[in-house]
Amino acid sequence: MEIKKGIGVSPGVVISTAVVLDAENLVVPKRQIAPADVDAEAQRFSAMLAKTLEDRTHLRDDVAARQGDQIAGIFDFHLGILRDKSLIDQILAEIRVRHSTAEYAVSTVMHKYADVFTKMSDRYMSERGKDVHDVERELLRRLIGQNRPDLLHLTSEVVLIAHDMLPSQTAALDRTHVRGFATDAGGRTSHTAIVARAMGIPAVVGLADITAEVNGGDMVILDGNHGVVIINPDEQTITEYRESERRRLKVESDLAALQGLPAQTLDGYLISLQANIEFPEEVDDAIHRGAEGIGLYRTEFLFLAKEREPSEEEHYGAYSDALLRLKKRPLVIRTVDLGADKYTQGRAANPERNPFLGNRSIRMCLHDIPMFKRQLRAIMRASVLGDVRIMFPLISTLMELRQAKMVLNDVMEELEDEGISFNRDIPVGMMIEVPSAAIMATQFAKEVNFFSIGTNDLVQYTLAVDRTNERVAGLFCPGHPAVLELVRDVIRKGTRGNVGVSMCGEMAGEPLYTLLLLGLGLTTFSMNSPDIPEVKRIIRSTTMEHARAVARRVMSFDSERQVMHYLRDETRKIDPEAF
Ligand code: PEP
Ligand code: MG
Repeated sequence: MEIKKGIGVSPGVVISTAVVLDAENLVVPKRQIAPADVDAEAQRFSAMLAKTLEDRTHLRDDVAARQGDQIAGIFDFHLGILRDKSLIDQILAEIRVRHSTAEYAVSTVMHKYADVFTKMSDRYMSERGKDVHDVERELLRRLIGQNRPDLLHLTSEVVLIAHDMLPSQTAALDRTHVRGFATDAGGRTSHTAIVARAMGIPAVVGLADITAEVNGGDMVILDGNHGVVIINPDEQTITEYRESERRRLKVESDLAALQGLPAQTLDGYLISLQANIEFPEEVDDAIHRGAEGIGLYRTEFLFLAKEREPSEEEHYGAYSDALLRLKKRPLVIRTVDLGADKYTQGRAANPERNPFLGNRSIRMCLHDIPMFKRQLRAIMRASVLGDVRIMFPLISTLMELRQAKMVLNDVMEELEDEGISFNRDIPVGMMIEVPSAAIMATQFAKEVNFFSIGTNDLVQYTLAVDRTNERVAGLFCPGHPAVLELVRDVIRKGTRGNVGVSMCGEMAGEPLYTLLLLGLGLTTFSMNSPDIPEVKRIIRSTTMEHARAVARRVMSFDSERQVMHYLRDETRKIDPEAF
């Protein structure tokens, strides 16, 4: 039995058999064929290529049927590689001219091809190197005659072990059979983690070398609540975990009873709990779990499955789909927040030394007005279909906000000229996720209708901790007194300036911080849907008076350790089942 500690990014415990991805680095020795066999070898390759193309096309259609076209589009890139004429010609030349085996030709040519992507400093393009490797391994397995664990045709429950998972791969997982996953890389607020939570798949990331420690077929316990993976556990450990899982399921069914009840404190203060989504289809689950609306729609995920920017119609289709499902409940559409760890498209592939401090988010939109306008037009057209609000991400200066609003005004004028109806009074808000915006909240409050505090980035930029880097994940803490001071001030300044203040960073969904945020005066919390019932239970177990007293005490501490210990104790006092 071996215990590995990582970062629990999506709660839940799974005891199951492991399937290891990325562990099989197929070694292809350099071998030559006789000149007389060259034609047969080229034919062997071509036949295998055709079969792979056929199977990947089926895979794409399969995923489209299960998860929708948006996710299935990820496989279009794979199909593009398999159809790339110049790549195929190079492999055939390697066979015909150098008399290499088909395996060796595929391996050398595709390695070079993948390297071109991997070396790009743009994160999106560099990630595409993994897709090339994926296709390469598929071809090699077929040529060598190995079968891979087929993730789409699993028949029993498994825990997936991988070096890293793209958010897109996570979104395409077969939820019925993949019960959880563990990875070497990753951090708490990486988008993979966010997608895992949204899908309710337990996950532990940042385990450093889990792919080297686990063999396919090993029994593992994956504990997403505590960030632990136990490899080949002994009987006693399995029994203990089964017991704690039984208790957890009981708590979950108790939480289900809360779904129809309001998020109201014992002394009658009503709080609005909303959900964060990446895809319109998530709206149904969000409502089911008690969300009163969508406080953050991360629209950059519209770019997820495509090799190109979505068209105005594709934007519009997604927004109207979400609105239809919401039936008049509010929808806060955040304009695209691309760059840094999120998907940047090929066209934005200029190397940046510090992408988190670079041309990301609103900055990228203001550098590409036609793209920005296409999205704004779609949002404005959708604004007559329901309660739509618009939100700009990563605002760091007043000028940026004013520019974004000017582009929005241009779009409104254009639509008016075209006789297209829209809601001229659409509420316009901004994310507060950069310290400069938090510090200047009073000035910003004069120019927007609402704030939403994005703690994932606010913590990252306040504490200088890369939110995706597992090596510094221990330093990423929303309970740091400096972060808390900013959060308190934003709520205060926003409230005084008469703008609504909500929070949509992960902190809003962490039960540990519920009492504190309530006491600081936060009235709208937006979180991943699975977190709603537990946050609601805490709200319903306290009075506002008590929460305010807790907040006052917390704000007197000078270390995050004190903050967290105190909050843990106070929360357990009112809700012994918490955490
Ligand atoms: C945040 O930064 O807290 C946030 C909600 O935005 P994202 O996680 O999409 O960057
Ligand atoms: Mg952010």
